[in-house]
Amino acid sequence: MKINYSCDCCGEDIDTLEVDELDEDKLGFSCLTVKERESILKYDSLSNSLQVLSLCDQCIEELGLAEEIAPLERGFIH
Ligand SMILES: [Zn+2]
Repeated sequence: MKINYSCDCCGEDIDTLEVDELDEDKLGFSCLTVKERESILKYDSLSNSLQVLSLCDQCIEELGLAEEIAPLERGFIH
């Protein structure tokens, strides 16, 4: 299935991953609370893809969240 990361702030596409199966531990989703999952993960069964709302580097910088968000962001993508 496909995992599409897009920026929650400006809507820009950040990254797309193609995975055989959804490994929530590996993707860092397992550490999210139920509420966080509901707000940032959107599963699209039609295209069998997962939409993940994140923040792009530019918005992280503009919002001044670099230090707070960056480690999480890296965890999501790699
Ligand atoms: Zn952005």
